[in-house]
Amino acid sequence: MNTQKITIEQALQQAAQKIISASGLPLAEARIEARTLLLHTLKQSHAWLISHGDDMLSERHGQDFHHVLARRLEGEPIAYILGYREFFGLQLKVSPATLIPRQDTEILVETALALIPSKNAWHIADLGTGSGAIALAIAHQRPDCQLWATDQSEEALTIAQENARLLQVNNIHFRHGSWFAPLTDLSFDLIVSNPPYIPQQDAHLTQGDLRFEPLSALASGHDGLDDIRSIIQQSKQHLSPHGFLLLEHGFDQAQAIANIAYENQASHVSHIKDLAGLDRVSQIQF
Ligand code: GLN
Repeated sequence: MNTQKITIEQALQQAAQKIISASGLPLAEARIEARTLLLHTLKQSHAWLISHGDDMLSERHGQDFHHVLARRLEGEPIAYILGYREFFGLQLKVSPATLIPRQDTEILVETALALIPSKNAWHIADLGTGSGAIALAIAHQRPDCQLWATDQSEEALTIAQENARLLQVNNIHFRHGSWFAPLTDLSFDLIVSNPPYIPQQDAHLTQGDLRFEPLSALASGHDGLDDIRSIIQQSKQHLSPHGFLLLEHGFDQAQAIANIAYENQASHVSHIKDLAGLDRVSQIQF
């Protein structure tokens, strides 16, 4: 963007055009991105913008906006630029050490909440918690439950703990380590996880937002199922007799997951669809 004096509305128009050229987004979406980044720069709300489009953009704000827009034009995800993402009505801090919470994952949370009786003090594990999204959404809705959230990344766990503090959620125990490693001897009524499940050769890993996210949170072996296999194998010994395992997975992995579950003495497996109508979550009982 040139730094000559322009209004806020002109800055938005120029930015939207650059986003369209760089990413091919339709105008309406490019405008939303430009607006989100500009309001972040100005530390102002959408409501404020309605009556300030004709204000001049100060030189300092113009430079700051130029900087964040350049990051977006390089492909960096908006959530990392802003430093937060909304998930299940909660504002969550995110960083490149954490996956960016997805709307699809809200299906996993909704399925979990439908299983947890509202006044019961269930013990629940969230494996590979990342920003803490799933654990925080459940803990926030079910304050009588106790949750254990693990992650092998200390950096991610620090973000998750900070999110818990900011949201004043006090019923999560954070533990450092891979999957069940820090949960030896504990057993749960419900185990939830959004593990990495993309095949390591998948071309999507080198495209779009995924390029900026931690590979260890995305890719898992040649068929994407290495971590899911390991979680299913270990779940039985960590579930109470009528407990549930809920796993998010790829749209084409439901059958493979049912097979792995039955090979590991599951008694019942069902699949839940995402907003696009694709099998996205599997519910497993042993
Ligand atoms: N659903 C994510 C994606 O495709 C992947 C997240 C994951 O592997 N858990 O973009």
